[in-house]
Amino acid sequence: MLEVAMNLRWSWDQDARELFRRVDPKIWAETWHDPIRLLGQVSRSRLEELAADSEFMQMLSKVHGGLTTYRQSQRWFQRLDDQPFESVAYFSPEFGIAEALPQYSGGLGVLAGDHLKAASSLGIPLVGVGLFYRQGYFRQELDADGWQQERYINLDPHSMALEMVQNARVELDLAGTSVAAEVWKAEVGRIPLFLLDSDVEGNDEEGRGVTDRLYGGGAEHRLRQEILLGIGGVQALSAMGFEPQVFHTNEGHAGFLGLARMAKVMTEQGLTFDEAIEAVKASTVFTTHTPVPAGIDQFPRELMQKYFAGWADSIGVDFEDLMKLGHWPSDPKDAPFNMAVMGLRLAGRANAVSALHGTVSRSMFQPLWPGVPQEEVPIDAVTNGVHPPTWVSGEMSEVYAREVGERWGEADELGWASISEMDDRELWHAHEQCRERLINYVRSRLKQSALARGTSEADAHWFDSVLDPFVLTICWARRFASYKRPTLLLADLERLRGLLLDEDRPIQVIFAGKAHPADEIGKEMIRNIVHFARREDVRHRIAFIEDYDIAVARVLYQGADVWLNNPRRPFEACGTSGEKAALNGAINFSIQDGWWDEMFDGENGWTIASAEGYEDLERRDAAEAASLYEALESQIIPLFYAEFESGVPLGWVQKMKSSLASLGPRVSAARMMKDYVTQLYAPAAASARVLSGDGFGAARNLAAWKSKVRSEWSSVKIDLVDGNTALADLGTEREIKARVLLGDLSTEDVEVQLLHGVVAANDEMVSPKVEVMELESSEDGGFYRYGGTFTCETAGRYGFTVRAVPKHSDLTNFADVGCITWA
Ligand SMILES: *Cc1c(COP(=O)(O)O)cnc(C)c1O
Repeated sequence: MLEVAMNLRWSWDQDARELFRRVDPKIWAETWHDPIRLLGQVSRSRLEELAADSEFMQMLSKVHGGLTTYRQSQRWFQRLDDQPFESVAYFSPEFGIAEALPQYSGGLGVLAGDHLKAASSLGIPLVGVGLFYRQGYFRQELDADGWQQERYINLDPHSMALEMVQNARVELDLAGTSVAAEVWKAEVGRIPLFLLDSDVEGNDEEGRGVTDRLYGGGAEHRLRQEILLGIGGVQALSAMGFEPQVFHTNEGHAGFLGLARMAKVMTEQGLTFDEAIEAVKASTVFTTHTPVPAGIDQFPRELMQKYFAGWADSIGVDFEDLMKLGHWPSDPKDAPFNMAVMGLRLAGRANAVSALHGTVSRSMFQPLWPGVPQEEVPIDAVTNGVHPPTWVSGEMSEVYAREVGERWGEADELGWASISEMDDRELWHAHEQCRERLINYVRSRLKQSALARGTSEADAHWFDSVLDPFVLTICWARRFASYKRPTLLLADLERLRGLLLDEDRPIQVIFAGKAHPADEIGKEMIRNIVHFARREDVRHRIAFIEDYDIAVARVLYQGADVWLNNPRRPFEACGTSGEKAALNGAINFSIQDGWWDEMFDGENGWTIASAEGYEDLERRDAAEAASLYEALESQIIPLFYAEFESGVPLGWVQKMKSSLASLGPRVSAARMMKDYVTQLYAPAAASARVLSGDGFGAARNLAAWKSKVRSEWSSVKIDLVDGNTALADLGTEREIKARVLLGDLSTEDVEVQLLHGVVAANDEMVSPKVEVMELESSEDGGFYRYGGTFTCETAGRYGFTVRAVPKHSDLTNFADVGCITWA
């Protein structure tokens, strides 16, 4: 049983969870679903009783056997024709895997957890690297007035599903003081997750405090954590004998891993700073998660000096060169060091987390690639997904296993299409069970909180009947950050009250979420909701549940009819809670931001009109709130209460089916991980192989070539372009000639390209096509003639232009060189 408890796969294996619940339902609930603590607390006699219970023992043997098979079986990755890499290291400041390992604050961490779980399910060889925070993130409690209180727990890694790794201790120099860290290993199915912990003997107070809590303390504390994560993480992997081919950094926080790896190749292989950049870049993937500049970590120059001046010296790097890695091109010398900027400079491949966020990120980071058109800024997009077995209820899992197939979590469109054919009543019945569980859960949570605040049993009795298991249930749960607008639904209290109290067609609303400890505005919003929810007239229809975490989230996703999301577009980079709710049959009602922008198809949910045209935020919020109420009143509520036929709202179930069939295959983290493998990991591993071969010979060559091209580029000129510019008819072929001066560069170093496309009103081409022009002849004086043809694909204003860009077989993209010449 301990073996099952030590592998976090139990957290998404329904049978294993059921097994632990059966050991002792009461302790299981009290330990907040923690099998290790459960096994520590359950009495000897109970264990003996279980050992004699043949049904239980059979179940245990099934679960244990399942885990063994799961670890050894061939999975998607093993079945690929040719395996593109042997290992990827995935670094993240937080990991949200299970409520029993509280090492996350919100979406970023939960995504990282799902990344590992999906990698495990698909058999992708990956290791996770993070920090072990002794106090985790805070637990939320509300005081009598509804004001958030933060409570920090003290975690003891020895009594968790963690194992200390022998001989993996790392030592770092933090501004002149040596700080050591031990490494804990958690098993996430087939994936090991290594967490560095500085609370060890031999460290001074400050050193021990580096990993005290997630996102606590000021900039310096944060910097120390990030140095430990990035530099310590790389050292720990080395110490354990891991040599990942690809390093993936989840947001900028772990970005120092690039510096650690540069230092390694500089000292061991004698590479220069620029050569080391090439070597590291080839094998690094960076994921950006925030379109809010204030959400990016930045460190003042003094702090960087304190922690990195000596380090730079020791490997022979000019400190100013180091600082430039974290600077925008226009930054003065004393500008703060930006972790996302460094992340992008040291990663050969980068991605945003939804299609819309890709567009936003290319615009936001465009200044890093001067002269490169926004559309060609090398930031790709992989839309976040979620790990189905973690989030989907037992009831729904059974339905899908029957209708879609055992491997429903990895099924494609074809597999999910069969949902449309299934019996309405069965689907509805499974969903109603989950809603009922949610209502019961809310009742008991509200009661517990009230009792904890000192309410008497008699007064708390009231909570046993709060909410109604047959009323349309809308949930809003996530971090209380301003841009997410937690209180938008409360914009017009009278209108909301009317909806809550409607005699025939009422709604009920459940809120949950934490505000960052330093975010007074977020706390104020919580308080506003709580005050409204306590009003005598509406209190039976609205609730705020304290201490949002993975366990609370799961019950909410599973029981909601409508999942509400109303951020200020486009600040929600992706958002994943709606994906988890969708997989449970909830219907999304959301601003068209993040994932919903690309996946809403007119049928599978509802949108709230985004009034981005308004400069004035108050007016904008009011307009969007009006759209929100309007959709509730005219579409959502009527659909839920109409067409009830023997207890089943047929139109609603139709929408559930359309949501499941269209989103099921797309929101799964299996889809996300396959995208990461094909778009990012496999190409990065291939580049890394080329650049590291022959003692990093190719990395040295590439660096030398870039430097030559940069110094000679000013002599590249396109001095003549011939071609017909008259309006063209559809399908007409056009021939274009260009004369190009290359100076001291050769035709091997330069690609001449023809761009053509429709011209917009502002005289710019819209998404032009890029074709390579052929070298036709050379002339004296370093001139070359190139030719190319294109076909007008749209009638009307169709334009073309010619440009020259650097070309090298080891270059990931031309944008990186910083050279581009237009005709
Ligand atoms: C999924 C999840 C989130 C992210 O929710 P968003 O609505 O995408 O911000 C945050 N916290 C928990 C516990 C989650 O499970």
